[in-house]
Amino acid sequence: MRFGCLGSGSKGNAWLVQAGDTCIMVDCGFGPREAGKRLARLGVEVNDLSAIMVTHEHSDHGRGAAQLAAKARCPVWLSHGTHAMLDALGSAPLSASIIAGQQVFSVGELEITPYPVPHDAREPMQFVFSDGARRFGLLTDAGHVTAHMETVLSGCDALALECNHDVAWLEAGSYPVALKRRILGRYGHLDNATAATLLHKIAGRSLRHVVAAHLSEQNNAPELARAALAGALGCAHDWIGVADQETGLDWREI
Ligand SMILES: [Zn+2]
Ligand SMILES: [Zn+2]
Repeated sequence: MRFGCLGSGSKGNAWLVQAGDTCIMVDCGFGPREAGKRLARLGVEVNDLSAIMVTHEHSDHGRGAAQLAAKARCPVWLSHGTHAMLDALGSAPLSASIIAGQQVFSVGELEITPYPVPHDAREPMQFVFSDGARRFGLLTDAGHVTAHMETVLSGCDALALECNHDVAWLEAGSYPVALKRRILGRYGHLDNATAATLLHKIAGRSLRHVVAAHLSEQNNAPELARAALAGALGCAHDWIGVADQETGLDWREI
């Protein structure tokens, strides 16, 4: 089982999780051409996609999903709320599979555990993937950490955790006050320190990959996110990966 990233941040997100012939994309915040180019960097063709999961309707996550799924002739999995919102935006997928609450489901060789997160979208979900032996937990776009999130993400073999901003940088930065409030709010985005506290709680013996995700280009820096997560584990800074906006993250074998 392996995972990789096509790009992560407010300008567009997309992740890949693969086990055997099953290749799932999580979010598609890129247009079909850009997504195709970024897939090629990871050696994947559009036709290789088994399914696309959409975490929520924000354009950096949902923008390209319907078009790419049509090209790949694969289903899009999403919550009722995300589907309704994409529908209202005129970008609902032709072939939608609705995620039933928090029920575990399978696509090919991967088992998917959806879990709800507090974020300012209609019905945002994040996911834990398993091939039966190992688990990869993905978490972006959450304003705070719930007890349920801690439970679901505990003991994963690999984690990609949102490190959106450094609170001091955001507060001192040039964003409008209303936007700062939204990002810092209970339904906004996770900051480095909160992600580090979460990581400290959920890290188990089997953890072999940690990647910082959805970094703000203005209100964060890769070294700050790395330092925060490394501090939570007491590991070297360069052991922590960063999925960035332009290059994403190369495949990591779990
Ligand atoms: Zn986002
Ligand atoms: Zn969002």
